[in-house]
Amino acid sequence: MKNWIRPEIEALSAYPVPDSSGYIKLDAMENPYRWSEALTTKWLDLIKQSELNRYPDPAAQALKSKIYHSLNVPDSAELILGNGSDELIQMIMMAISGANRAVISVEPSFVMYQMIATFLGMPYVAVPLKEDFSLDADQMLSAIKRHQPAVIFIAYPNNPTGNLFDEQVIDRIISSTDALVVVDEAYYAFADQTYASKLSQYENLLVMRTVSKMGLAGLRLGYMAGAKKLINEIDKVRLPYNINVLTQLSARFALEHVDELNTQTDQIKKDRKNLVSQLAMIDGIDVFPTQANFILFRTTLKPADDVFVSLKQQKILIKNLSKVSLSLKNCLRVTVGLPSENEKFLSALEMALSA
Ligand code: PMP
Repeated sequence: MKNWIRPEIEALSAYPVPDSSGYIKLDAMENPYRWSEALTTKWLDLIKQSELNRYPDPAAQALKSKIYHSLNVPDSAELILGNGSDELIQMIMMAISGANRAVISVEPSFVMYQMIATFLGMPYVAVPLKEDFSLDADQMLSAIKRHQPAVIFIAYPNNPTGNLFDEQVIDRIISSTDALVVVDEAYYAFADQTYASKLSQYENLLVMRTVSKMGLAGLRLGYMAGAKKLINEIDKVRLPYNINVLTQLSARFALEHVDELNTQTDQIKKDRKNLVSQLAMIDGIDVFPTQANFILFRTTLKPADDVFVSLKQQKILIKNLSKVSLSLKNCLRVTVGLPSENEKFLSALEMALSA
């Protein structure tokens, strides 16, 4: 091929999404529940009225009002919406990008921070977490001093490890730097912890969330709160009409019935507790603490690659992280599914470990 494509893009692999048809799908942190028949009928009635011949409201004002009201965003903060929080990560970086504008996050964490930094030619620095996957305050602070980053991403809880980092350490990071600090609360619904209440305290703080994990992954909607002046600047790089008519309408409708989504979330939290305790009883498995809708675990008697393949043969799809980094050697990540799916996963795992 000619030199059309930048070498750093050629060196990348596209974000991997395996074909999951025919599998019990426990790989992507989706909520396994659909809506009740009654709610679906009401939603379809609403969708009938949508005007697909018109562009959507570019500011998605009515949807934003619902988000403030239903998802605990302080009135004093400004909101911006993205086509998934992936798009918000891209917008933040586009607004601040430059060859010497470093991006800092931790390792292991969500891969899109690094990928988008690479797309935009920004240096990316990954600070290793400690062995127990907690945040290494000294290493973080010295990396910030050394690289003078433009932005720092902290996933809270972290993906793929599932844990919440120490709040005091995050506070120290935010107050020690002029960089923007994005606290990515993608798993907020499962964590009972948020930085949203600290938005008025720190002018460099942005709190980003998504509706993907609370049962609306198919809509592609992320939201981010921050100081008005800052959000208004980031809004300039947003493509017009980035939240389509059907997403605006459906998300508004879903948030009017947020109790139904919250009931599902509560069920997932209960099932997470069960799954963690059952996993912990299996010989050859070490389970890491989680505040998200997934569980990271390590296989200690068999290579995780073999266990992953055996689960796949048994038609169960989870995420193999074993080769992602040294610290994740023999680590697998399972999303909490329906109780019946969790049971099938556990028996398949026992089978994989005994084979
Ligand atoms: N942040 C984190 C930490 C994630 O794990 C994910 C999804 N895996 C996202 C952001 C992106 O979520 P979405 O684009 O679906 O809103």
